[in-house]
Amino acid sequence: KVVCVTGASGFIASWLVKLLLQRGYTVKASVRDTADPKKTEHLRSLEGASERLHLVKANLLEEGSFDAAIDGCECVFHTASPFYHDITDPQAELLDPAVKGTLNVLNSCSKTSTVKRVVVTSSAAAVVYSERPRNSDVIIDETWFSNADFAQQNKVWYILSKTLAEEAAWKFAKDHVIDLVTINPAMVIGPLLQPTLNTSNAAVLKLINGSSTFPNLTFGWVDVKDVCEAHILAYENPSASGRYCLVERVLHYSELAKFIKELYPSIQVADKPADDKPVAPSYQVSKEKAKGLGINYTPFEESIKATIESLKEKGFVNL
Ligand code: NDP
Repeated sequence: KVVCVTGASGFIASWLVKLLLQRGYTVKASVRDTADPKKTEHLRSLEGASERLHLVKANLLEEGSFDAAIDGCECVFHTASPFYHDITDPQAELLDPAVKGTLNVLNSCSKTSTVKRVVVTSSAAAVVYSERPRNSDVIIDETWFSNADFAQQNKVWYILSKTLAEEAAWKFAKDHVIDLVTINPAMVIGPLLQPTLNTSNAAVLKLINGSSTFPNLTFGWVDVKDVCEAHILAYENPSASGRYCLVERVLHYSELAKFIKELYPSIQVADKPADDKPVAPSYQVSKEKAKGLGINYTPFEESIKATIESLKEKGFVNL
């Protein structure tokens, strides 16, 4: 069977391509620059790649750009979307590629009769960000939607980009009768296949590369392999539908730092909050729907260890 993965050179997508090839799929993988070895070599060297991986050049901002990558595929996994915080022009750098890019990909899907399901990598960012109060008794689930106006007011542009992109995806899917499933992972960590550093693993690196402070934030955390498994199960299981929140553990950065210190007692780990505001409240995220899909989460302790070992091995930190 032939499937498409957009943004294949990225952290999550590289693992998705690897697992799809392992399962015997033929993968049409879109990358922005097929001539850049930093974006392609790790994909070309995956097991099965020489026989069943096809790299196709595509850009989120070019209309019709994904037609060639998507044509002939039974499923499209749309993962491509910028995930950066350090930006100068939110509209051009985040919002347009996220929202127009998603519509662009879905439009290519609607032009071909081969695509049976589209799995979009949305985010917990499109679920948890609203004025709804939080504490350790609150259980967030798939019925929660982030509030785009609230995100706009607070200028949290990445959150806004994912919220608007998911809203646009559901609307397009309804209007064009596309079978859409979204995967909504929290912060994804795990070993890097790609040679460059992605934003969520960079958040872990910041705790161990000499900085003394950690952000006063509470996030959910989940392993990259579980996230990719969920994408594949969401396609393979005909009864999968709607959204799937993926969170193994909800942790404040202080707790994350504590876990790292326990695993690596001799290294310097950030040990002070970056502000003196009240500690960001904890909350729970329901695991029920993901369990129904067949996800058995990798324990956070294992994921954080594998992440740090990979950051060491790739030379991002010397411990
Ligand atoms: P990466 O930065 O590693 O990957 C992002 C991918 O998007 C890259 O392949 C990048 O291509 C591609 N991309 C960005 N802009 C464009 C564009 N204009 N045209 C074509 N491709 C583009 O991030 P992740 O793997 O972490 O993220 C993948 C997806 O998962 C994103 O949708 C993200 O929002 C979502 N997500 C990530 C989480 C995390 O914690 N990592 C949590 C929840 C959701 P290039 O390599 O050429 O820059």
